[in-house]
Amino acid sequence: MQKAQLPRMAALTIGGMKGAVSPQQGRLSLSQDLFEAARAVRENAHAPYSGFRVGAAVRSKSGIHVGCNVENASFPEGICAEGGAITSMVAAGDKAILEVLVYADADTPVAPCGGCRQKLAEFAGPDVKVSLAGPEGIRAVMTVAELLPSSFSLK
Ligand SMILES: [Zn+2]
Repeated sequence: MQKAQLPRMAALTIGGMKGAVSPQQGRLSLSQDLFEAARAVRENAHAPYSGFRVGAAVRSKSGIHVGCNVENASFPEGICAEGGAITSMVAAGDKAILEVLVYADADTPVAPCGGCRQKLAEFAGPDVKVSLAGPEGIRAVMTVAELLPSSFSLK
């Protein structure tokens, strides 16, 4: 496994936001355990409608928790990989995300959807790293605050 094979990341725009950084900035380091966990759980995704499978892994103090997307014939009832990983973490008794990795196989880095950005912000501090990975390794790294600036909070 190699990391950071995309040298032009500095110009990358994800979801209309410029936030990805170049390998030269040193943020594309690979958390191998998170990468392998997200890649493995992606194989279990239930995506008969879109065919687009995603795996997510979050690290908390108790370890790594994973989730995959689970689609439903009633489309809005589907669950994103990130949401599944967060649910697994909370079920294990943790409520603090230390690191996130999302794995998908697409032409561009796959960032969390809007709803999952809000879910991540509930359990992760603004500086928590969210790595966006594909088969060749880490494609981009953003923070929770970069993914969801000015996030909603009741606090
Ligand atoms: Zn989502």
